[in-house]
Amino acid sequence: MDPNTSTRTAPTDPTEGAATVLDGNPVADRIHDDLGSATDSLRDSGVAPAVALVSMTDSGAGRTYVSMKEQACATVGVESTVHRIDPDRPAAALFELVADLNDDPAVHGVSVQSPLPDHVGPRAVARRIDPEKDVEGVHPENLGRLLAGTPRYTPPTAAGIVRLLDAYGIDTAGKRAVVVGRSEAVGRPTAVLLSGHGPGGDATTTVCHSRTADLAAATRSGDIVVVAAGRPGLVDGEMLSAGAVVVDVGINRVGAGDGDAAGQVAGDVDFESARRTAAAITPVPGGVGPLSVAMLLCNAVDAASRHAGVDVALP
Ligand code: NAP
Repeated sequence: MDPNTSTRTAPTDPTEGAATVLDGNPVADRIHDDLGSATDSLRDSGVAPAVALVSMTDSGAGRTYVSMKEQACATVGVESTVHRIDPDRPAAALFELVADLNDDPAVHGVSVQSPLPDHVGPRAVARRIDPEKDVEGVHPENLGRLLAGTPRYTPPTAAGIVRLLDAYGIDTAGKRAVVVGRSEAVGRPTAVLLSGHGPGGDATTTVCHSRTADLAAATRSGDIVVVAAGRPGLVDGEMLSAGAVVVDVGINRVGAGDGDAAGQVAGDVDFESARRTAAAITPVPGGVGPLSVAMLLCNAVDAASRHAGVDVALP
């Protein structure tokens, strides 16, 4: 499986312990290169693509995500401004900021970082973001468009998963896909893409969640298993069938306090046991994460080009 080719082939049979590691970094780097050309074209037309990165968390993971997005924006020529709100403030503070950013014509995209404090509902935030600026794709209008097969902004992690599989030549058509997790930002949109028509889709797709009666039986049925539960090591090698392609979306901080940026990052899959059964597996970090950021930037450049009415080629 070579990420430099886009030829779709079936996953190879596994050799024990020799699963292909689906490295997201080279795939994301190529997307960044292409986005750099797109932002150059926009600038030539007098448009400076700009996103607002909003954070209302003390968690180390939240801070890390925002800083990764900030760095990636700089790499591709998208201007970014970070807005931090104290997590002890009322939800109204966040709603007011989102309203201001919606009204600011110099801001093309608004990204509100998860996690949010318990007193701020993610849905209440999502529906306040201007759908034209909703680069995380979480506004009900954008989720509805995705479901209807006419997407505007696809949630970046879901788009990134499909892009990563494609880059490694992993065909989804006719495969049994199992998605663990049903969040509106990750699990559900991933299932919509995998079960949709055409490239990256056409998989017979099962969605699992915390009330799934026998998770291991479900994951063992998958040719492609996507795990987005936020539970470190939830899926191990015994829960997979030989030759499965495993996409570990989880990013969990282990061995550190909640507000601590230190500690280790662990996925939702027990990598060492899973790689002995799987044909291919994403690492954490360095698998899905780089693609999530790259696809967010695609959405941001798309938002700027729509706003300006200037067509650019998106990767
Ligand atoms: P979320 O909103 O908390 O959703 C988690 C989902 O997992 C829920 O649907 C939940 O089921 C399900 N779940 C929890 N425990 C389970 C269990 N024991 N068995 C089966 N299903 C279970 O989380 P999220 O925002 O989707 O994120 C999931 C993970 O991905 C987190 O670790 C997050 O940090 C990570 N993430 C990574 C990226 C990236 O770029 N790699 C991007 C976004 C998120 P219920 O619905 O029944 O509660």
